[in-house]
Amino acid sequence: MDYKKTELSCDVLIAGGGVGGLTAALEIKEKNPDLDVLIVEKQTAGYGGKANKGGGVLQYFDPKMSPAEFVKFHVENIGCYLGDQEVMYKYVEMNTEMLEKLISWGCNLPKNPDGSWFVIPTGPMTSMITVDLDITLKMRQRAEKLGVRIMDKTTVAEFFVEDGCIKGAAAYSILDGTFYVIKAKYVVVATGSQNYRFASMWSSGRGDGIAAAYRAGAEMRNCEFGNFTQIAKVKSHDEVVFGENNMYNAKGEFITPHFRSYRETDINSNAIREWYWQMLAGTGPVHLEYPEREQESRPAEGTDSKEGGAAMARLFDRPYGRTFRMLNTISSQSADQGSMEICPLFIGEQSPIRVDGNMATSIKGMYAIGDCSYTGSAAPGAVPAPPGRNRGSGILNAVFAGIVCGDAIAALKTCGCAPAEIPAEKVAAVEEAIYAPLKRTEGHRAKDVIDLVQKAVVPIEQSVYMKEDRMKKAEGIVAQAREAAKDLRAEDWHDLLACHEAEAMVTCAEMFYAASEMRKESRGWFLREDYPDIDNKNWLKWIIVQNVDGKMTLHTEDVPIDKYPNKPE
Ligand SMILES: Cc1cc2nc3c(=O)[nH]c(=O)nc-3n(C[C@H](O)[C@H](O)[C@H](O)COP(=O)(O)OP(=O)(O)OC[C@H]3O[C@@H](n4cnc5c(N)ncnc54)[C@H](O)[C@@H]3O)c2cc1C
Repeated sequence: MDYKKTELSCDVLIAGGGVGGLTAALEIKEKNPDLDVLIVEKQTAGYGGKANKGGGVLQYFDPKMSPAEFVKFHVENIGCYLGDQEVMYKYVEMNTEMLEKLISWGCNLPKNPDGSWFVIPTGPMTSMITVDLDITLKMRQRAEKLGVRIMDKTTVAEFFVEDGCIKGAAAYSILDGTFYVIKAKYVVVATGSQNYRFASMWSSGRGDGIAAAYRAGAEMRNCEFGNFTQIAKVKSHDEVVFGENNMYNAKGEFITPHFRSYRETDINSNAIREWYWQMLAGTGPVHLEYPEREQESRPAEGTDSKEGGAAMARLFDRPYGRTFRMLNTISSQSADQGSMEICPLFIGEQSPIRVDGNMATSIKGMYAIGDCSYTGSAAPGAVPAPPGRNRGSGILNAVFAGIVCGDAIAALKTCGCAPAEIPAEKVAAVEEAIYAPLKRTEGHRAKDVIDLVQKAVVPIEQSVYMKEDRMKKAEGIVAQAREAAKDLRAEDWHDLLACHEAEAMVTCAEMFYAASEMRKESRGWFLREDYPDIDNKNWLKWIIVQNVDGKMTLHTEDVPIDKYPNKPE
């Protein structure tokens, strides 16, 4: 198939126009209007990404609480000492600033008549407020007014790095295949997480930005915290947030107390493990019961209680999002027929691009924000990407990272790299590799590869509650997927993108299993049957994965716990 070739340049290239990418663009333009900012988005910025797909709740911290209090709570109960406590502190401290910024960008956040925020208590230590689901549309409008350039339907396929410095990216149009070489002084990766295309609402998280950053040599951190799983109703596939508080087995026994003795912020992998154990013991299926034993289950305030019901009703009182909520309710009522049988719903959420407190990656001039670098920032510790046991932290983490990175870029005169051309032979090699699936008349289809990766990662005993032999089995399947990905064949431009996304899934699964095998303990969300205990003596470490000359390498780094205020006993 024929295609055009074009060269573009800009000061800042932002790959991905979701809430994170739009935040970075807005922040950069507001702080330094002279910078030429280009967003390249493979879908349509404003409609793409996840911030407009779901709950639209934002984490809220009472300003009367000191950020240090929340950090302590989080480190001890959620992050399990694996987090970067300084970045977490900064995130909590900026809460009100972020909310006000969203309002200044045109987003609809509810306030009470007296001007205070309309807050829904969820606890412990944290609450939620809402945002209407046109959030990214509003942000796009504002960004365009400020002069941000946006290219939709164009996917960033590869990053160019010379002597450890970012030089730009290769991209192509998914409408007519046009090949773009985009030169940039700075690149911001804002391409979201890896969700392995399994759960439909999360299917936009395809990890191709993560895989491109990996190929470019960027370090990855906490790859093993890559698989979030929620509870869903078996019949309707509807996710049941906080359903883990009300789990019963087939004998009518209340099983929540087997894994939860106090009120927790959100689902933990222990709930998923309990479901697995019940099924193995022949006491399944597991179902939910409401509300007579509600007291026993100690649900999070504002979610299952009467007071919570009223708050939830207001939660969805958002003009733009109302339609989607109605559709959701109708579909669950018709498909569900009252059954409360549940099973785990694999969601994924790998987000491992390693970044520092300014969201800078290990490649000079390259930043990564939001869902592609949530665990890579190490801020949250031992959890997968949002919600990471903090409902409402996904959108705000992306906003936080976008602001921090935007400020860093806007303030920089130069990233310190000498200007250099991207060598022509490098461009030619990248172009050839990108379009190769279109030239093949035989070979595997993207779906063949995706099916294999899903066969490895979706069963929860291979991705959430793991053991060496089960991991080996899954790795064997991923190896088959890698083999199949070598001769991928595409029929059109969209199919070409599907091939690249499928290959990215293989890379992400490989990183997940390599790091999971290495971590010989259980910590937070990460559970191993063969190493069931937390091991602070040997495993207060981050696992770093990096592509060195085409080979996946792994090493560990001690968490610098001495410099943090909260330490394990
Ligand atoms: C069903 C659902 C419900 C949710 N509910 C909430 C909630 O209530 N509250 C909350 O805080 N969070 C919620 N989240 C999570 C939250 O939406 C995400 O954490 C947040 O949107 C992440 O923003 P992001 O910009 O980093 O990534 P994304 O929103 O994933 O945006 C990434 C963008 O990059 C584009 N892209 C990807 N690859 C490329 C490429 N190679 N080239 C060009 N463009 C590319 C994508 O098309 C997309 O537009 C929910 C998520 C889902 C799926």
